[in-house]
Amino acid sequence: MASKKGARNSIILKCTVCGNENYITSKNRKEHPDRLEIKKYCKFCKQETVHKEKK
Ligand SMILES: [Zn+2]
Repeated sequence: MASKKGARNSIILKCTVCGNENYITSKNRKEHPDRLEIKKYCKFCKQETVHKEKK
């Protein structure tokens, strides 16, 4: 079994349009030090919007 220890951190993706926190994902902060920005479907906006990592 893989260890649960590591550099991956849970992050919350927040819709930049309505501000709802729609997705939880994880990333390796050492490989991706910049804040994530992903286009994803927002059920509140009923369309694809840019989701940003919540600090
Ligand atoms: Zn939204």
